[in-house]
Amino acid sequence: MSRFQSTRIAGLAPYTPGEQPKEQTYIKLNTNESPYPPAPSVLAALNREEGERLRLYSDPTASALRQALAETLDVAPENICVTNGSDEALSFAFMAFAEREVAFADITYGFYQVFAALYKLKAKLIPLKADFSIDPKDYMGLDMPCVIANPNAPTGLSLPLSDIEAILQANLKQLLIVDEAYVDFGGTSAVPLTKRYDNLLVVQTFSKSRALAGARLGFAVGNAALIQDLERVRYSTNPYNINRLSLLIGEAALSEKRYYEETCKRIIKTRAWTKDALSRLGFVCLDSAANFLFAKHPAYEGAALYRDLKARGILVRHFDAARIRDYNRITIGSEEEMERLIVVLKELLERQS
Ligand SMILES: *Cc1c(COP(=O)(O)O)cnc(C)c1O
Repeated sequence: MSRFQSTRIAGLAPYTPGEQPKEQTYIKLNTNESPYPPAPSVLAALNREEGERLRLYSDPTASALRQALAETLDVAPENICVTNGSDEALSFAFMAFAEREVAFADITYGFYQVFAALYKLKAKLIPLKADFSIDPKDYMGLDMPCVIANPNAPTGLSLPLSDIEAILQANLKQLLIVDEAYVDFGGTSAVPLTKRYDNLLVVQTFSKSRALAGARLGFAVGNAALIQDLERVRYSTNPYNINRLSLLIGEAALSEKRYYEETCKRIIKTRAWTKDALSRLGFVCLDSAANFLFAKHPAYEGAALYRDLKARGILVRHFDAARIRDYNRITIGSEEEMERLIVVLKELLERQS
């Protein structure tokens, strides 16, 4: 801490990203990245000519990408705000729409707490049920904005669209932010509901299903007035928030619908295989609609399993937090990576008994 630190940042507990080791020696199942590369046309777009154009600023209106997103999502460009990762969309939304308090689940994406603290908002934590599912009734009649990750992280459980709509209807005077980072792995998107509900903002990312975590590209979808408010924050923060190359490859990614449907299908298939193999080893897995499994073993403490896997070259994510200490979040990697995971787990369990 410097002598100059402002009280504004003094009490912050920043987000802790999953480990990103420099050596490529680990099997990385800890940050929900895709095991597959971005689509071929995404890679082709990254040519020398575009590199040379980096001397120019990027398009602050992101008009080509917004147009392409609008067509993909069947909304209008004025319904979309493009951001530097969806974390930035969430940050802008907290800044734009939350006044004193914001509500979210006790077990969900860790960044909500961080943004609440950053913007001096009180966080109203709504406990998940004992089985880690969301009870929509707990979200009805709120007198503050609220954010729901659907599918939720790190549980992977998803809420049907009918429940999202029921929550919207019960909170017509409050904004609901739905974070759909994992929706392409088995959830149902609430984007169509943005046409009927002006109290709904949907946030999505290119990081997970589109294999572009390193490009930092996300977006928010909502009624045009909501988007104008987000744009007000964006133009007050960093109008060139997306670099030229990411704008370009985002557009290329949207033109590769088939490729990404295939990779998502493959990940879903690997998830089913992994869940089955884990169950045979005695693990309990929640029912995941995401590209990870949340699993615990009755004979293996969560933190110990994380440590022992790391020592064997496999990184998973352990959260040292109440209710979920026994669990690890395991990203679905390639078929080979998951086979290796199962072999290592078998060995660890045999050594234990
Ligand atoms: C990964 C993730 C995000 C954000 O990812 P970006 O890379 O910033 O787009 C947002 N919400 C949840 C629940 C996530 O898991």
